[in-house]
Amino acid sequence: MSLIIALMLIQPRAITCAQPLALTSTQCTGTTQKGNRCKNKVASGTRCHLHRESTAKKPEPTSTNTSSVQCSGTTKKGQRCKNRVKNGTRCHLHD
Ligand SMILES: [Zn+2]
Ligand SMILES: [Zn+2]
Repeated sequence: MSLIIALMLIQPRAITCAQPLALTSTQCTGTTQKGNRCKNKVASGTRCHLHRESTAKKPEPTSTNTSSVQCSGTTKKGQRCKNRVKNGTRCHLHD
């Protein structure tokens, strides 16, 4: 058995060819929608492309802005104005 190992050490080609990708890749640390551990393998980092995107995705700036309120004015068509106002209750059109 030791002779086979010695032969592999002599031949650098055999080592590079035999080196599997699984050695460098790790299991994704993310979780699936069902709460299970993600089984995807990642070559670099700790998360696969699916969970890397979800974490990198930033929330919409409009949804986080809670200080602004919808304008209480109405449009010419009689519909509620969709403009957001930070101060007061009406936008610059209905002020
Ligand atoms: Zn994943
Ligand atoms: Zn308005």
